[in-house]
Amino acid sequence: MPRVIPRDQHSISRKDLSDNALKVLYRLKDGGHESYLVGGCVRDLLLGKHPKDFDVATAGHPDEVHQLFRNSRLIGRRFRLVHVRFGREIIEVATFRAAHDSQDNVSDNHSRQAESGMLLRDNVYGTVEEDALRRDFTVNALYYSIEDFAIHDYANGVEDLNNRVLRMIGDPEARYREDPVRMLRAIRFAAKLEFTIEPKTEEPIRRLSSLLADIPAARLFEEVLKLFLSGKGVITFQLLREFDLFRHLFPITDAFLNDSDDPTAERLIVEALRSTDARIRRGKSVTPAFLYAAMLWHPVQQRIERLRHDGVPPIPALHQASQEITQQQGRATSLPKRFSGPMREIWELQQRLPHRFGKRAEQLLQHPRFRAGYDFVLMREASGEDLEGLGPWWTEYQSAAIDQREEMVQQLGRSPKRPRRRRRRKPAVG
Ligand code: ATP
Ligand code: MG
Repeated sequence: MPRVIPRDQHSISRKDLSDNALKVLYRLKDGGHESYLVGGCVRDLLLGKHPKDFDVATAGHPDEVHQLFRNSRLIGRRFRLVHVRFGREIIEVATFRAAHDSQDNVSDNHSRQAESGMLLRDNVYGTVEEDALRRDFTVNALYYSIEDFAIHDYANGVEDLNNRVLRMIGDPEARYREDPVRMLRAIRFAAKLEFTIEPKTEEPIRRLSSLLADIPAARLFEEVLKLFLSGKGVITFQLLREFDLFRHLFPITDAFLNDSDDPTAERLIVEALRSTDARIRRGKSVTPAFLYAAMLWHPVQQRIERLRHDGVPPIPALHQASQEITQQQGRATSLPKRFSGPMREIWELQQRLPHRFGKRAEQLLQHPRFRAGYDFVLMREASGEDLEGLGPWWTEYQSAAIDQREEMVQQLGRSPKRPRRRRRRKPAVG
């Protein structure tokens, strides 16, 4: 039996809820299906935060739900659910899940489990009570009912929420084996909610981290976006490294960080995440391209150096190196072309921005990716790379009047043909 927290003893009121989520709940109810709000929205509202989205759990089967809403789509195979779309808002409707009966695991349409214990299909339906115990963390298993506007707590989630504790429901190791992505989710919620991970929930993570190798690259990419674009990227990165999970998301970067004694590599990543976190706080847009550009910048540089050493000219070296690194990264987390393209343009601009002679500076300013390339230069400088004043030069150039700009270009004082000379000589030590 759940613990029921009646309307007058919790802080969620109907005006906090999305109208569309309410529409879905009432339509399901009229269709005869027991339904609740569940998951992140209930948790975040109780914590006084704005929910990112609203998830609904119902007794109705996916096909029945789909039939109730013209604006809906059936999605997923491993975990079937229904998306109900209202303009830009999507309400996710999941049917109550139950535990899998180990006897009918083999070649069943609804339930499939790999030898490792990993669930390949999780479509065995059940009651709300069973559903609660199939969820990951206790604070994610709180149900808000539109019958009585009460919160139904089957897993002692309210107490954990009040104590700011993230606790896995059931046996943590078994639950991680069923779905290794739950390890990433533990880190994500710990960082996002500033919760402590309860010791038994924390203990298996480092030990089981390599189970992530079995997760499809596309699903890991989705998780990377949630991990790093949630406004707590810096702390998330540190926790992922600490729990040896980062290696499975960014293997090349992780190896570089472990092998290299150059501190600017880690600082660049932290700078990129810091600026991403700040942009999210200010409600500005963020792109995964920039994040991936920072994560992979030093490995790409290393690859370029090796190619240059073998006599490959700079531009082909950059192209070959970014091609190879993008492909390799794609095997860990897929990287859609709409992000890898801009990422590579940011890298190309790093090669082009130092060349400012003649009309080049003016042309570079018109480059559609100039802003990202310039921001990336500033970040490299903030991480400790010495770019001989490149960032400040571009800062000044952008705000200068036309004639000042010409002068700035002339003052660069060297032609592209002549061998490079340092502009400012370091004073001789001695
Ligand atoms: P967010 O704020 O990121 O949306 P959330 O808790 O709502 O957080 P979702 O990924 O939207 O996370 O999932 C909704 C709910 O579904 C979760 O709160 C949890 O109850 C359940 N859930 C999601 N993924 C899993 C999983 N891998 N294993 C068990 N339960 C899960
Ligand atoms: Mg959610």
